[in-house]
Amino acid sequence: MRQAGQEEKERVRDASDIVRVVGEHVSLKAKGREFMGLCPFHDDHDPSMHVVPSKQIFHCFVCGAGGDVFAFVQRFHHLEFREALEYLAQRANITLVPRTRGSAVESPAEAGPTRADLVWASGVAASFFQAILRHESHGRVAREAIAARGISPEMVEAFALGASPDRWDGLAATVRSKGLPTAAFVGAGLLRPRESDGSHYDGFRNRLMFPIHDQLGRVIAFGARKLNPEDEPKYLNSPESAIFEKSGTLYGLQLAARAIQSERVAVVTEGYTDTIACHQAGLSNVVATLGTALTSRHARVLRRLCDTVILLFDGDQAGMRAADRAVEVFFAEDLDVRIATLSSATDAKDPDELLKRPGGVEVLRRVLASARDLLEFRCARLAERVEGAGPAVASRRIGEELERLVEIGFNRLPMLRRRLITRRIAEVVGLDEATVWKSIPAGRSAAGGGTAGNADASAPVVAMPSARELALGCLLAFPDLWTTLTDRHREALDPATWEQPEQRAVVEALFDAASAGAGVELEAVRARLDDPGSQALATGWYMRVVAMTEGSAQRGAECLRDCVSRLVEEGSADVVRDRRSTGSVNRRSLPRPIRAV
Ligand SMILES: [Zn+2]
Repeated sequence: MRQAGQEEKERVRDASDIVRVVGEHVSLKAKGREFMGLCPFHDDHDPSMHVVPSKQIFHCFVCGAGGDVFAFVQRFHHLEFREALEYLAQRANITLVPRTRGSAVESPAEAGPTRADLVWASGVAASFFQAILRHESHGRVAREAIAARGISPEMVEAFALGASPDRWDGLAATVRSKGLPTAAFVGAGLLRPRESDGSHYDGFRNRLMFPIHDQLGRVIAFGARKLNPEDEPKYLNSPESAIFEKSGTLYGLQLAARAIQSERVAVVTEGYTDTIACHQAGLSNVVATLGTALTSRHARVLRRLCDTVILLFDGDQAGMRAADRAVEVFFAEDLDVRIATLSSATDAKDPDELLKRPGGVEVLRRVLASARDLLEFRCARLAERVEGAGPAVASRRIGEELERLVEIGFNRLPMLRRRLITRRIAEVVGLDEATVWKSIPAGRSAAGGGTAGNADASAPVVAMPSARELALGCLLAFPDLWTTLTDRHREALDPATWEQPEQRAVVEALFDAASAGAGVELEAVRARLDDPGSQALATGWYMRVVAMTEGSAQRGAECLRDCVSRLVEEGSADVVRDRRSTGSVNRRSLPRPIRAV
């Protein structure tokens, strides 16, 4: 079984080029034989993630994230290994041996549904709702609603729209008759238990169903619009669950991601139907929030894909409020944020309505093209408040604005950006730049206040590798060097001498690979590691050495020689320290693990 699983994993890995997979999530630029991009795993402003096609690995020198294509997908989407395998297999058109579904059937009480169970149940429900929509009588009202909104059959298909039947036991009866595990459906908010008799009823009744997908295109939740005017509320969302977090999800991103990435611009609308109408009109870089304000999680998702975000709002009032909130959310991100309001150019109440009019697409394109920069927007409002005010009031208002900017992270921005903002404010309020610059409060956020370029002060920092770690990196990068090690060298690197479990796992895998005659190159060692933490560690050591030696085997050999001779010299000191810190005995008497010949 494990053997079969291993083979499957290899097949999927071979079919999933890491540059393409990572590139679908993060913009990459070629640099020599590698690719570089903004690391999605820390607050990265300078591309620090490397992707190495020849080794099929990625690595970030700042936060230490790294590993193979599975590790990337798992970490990026917070997936279990099996979910990552399924996603990559589907992407590569590989059919996996089906896993027996329904842990929930066997032990409904204790275990509870897993994330994979919730995803599965949501997918089953989406198909059920689609079938209802096609059903002659059950789907009629929903089909009329779709037709009335002018949504094309292609969009119904692309967004996988569906309908929940006008009864309380539609999905519930299907789940029961097919003997499917109810717990997964309950966990995803699709079924609800009745307190009286423990039976279940539908979570959604008589609604137009908008499946909400994750970026992988898996259904993770639903938005549901009422079909009967008397029902309340107008829109109903799935409850949050292990797979669905409202504030980090963007509607339509699974379809829009590619266009956002290629155009480097994302448009964020207020509603599902606005997003669908835009896609139907050929604007494919459009998404929607799920009835919430923009959050920094949205901003981070978008920042990986593009440089500019246009927030498209229906009315000026809403636009103002949103601009205020957006300032806080987007300020610290390297995103160019623009605000576009429909009401400034047309009397249409939302993009959906506008796009139904002849020439509506052109009007919308003009509205988007004339979107105002967030800072301009804010400066214009400051100018309004300062204009005509007496000097005392004006200076207080300018002071308040500067304080606000510092509060939301001004001093953490790169120097150049701070200078540009200062200049803009100076222009708007009619002061010279130096005066405004001096008036910016030092703030509490960063130690150096407004003086230093400390944008990276909060970034995680990976410690410099020790001599032992470097030695391991040399072996992984230049596996032939293994044979140049003496017994004493190998002893100094012995797995038993590593205290940290993840490190020890890597070293054990390396010694294991060597004694199996498999060679100690990165791939062979990584293949022996299950834990993503130790995989990232191995990749990190490898990358560090490749960078230091610039791939030169001779420099690798020198580095290894330096490291191991230092280790052998320091040997006795280490033993004393080991004993003091762990209370263990002299390591020379520790049991020997598998040793290489
Ligand atoms: Zn990183």
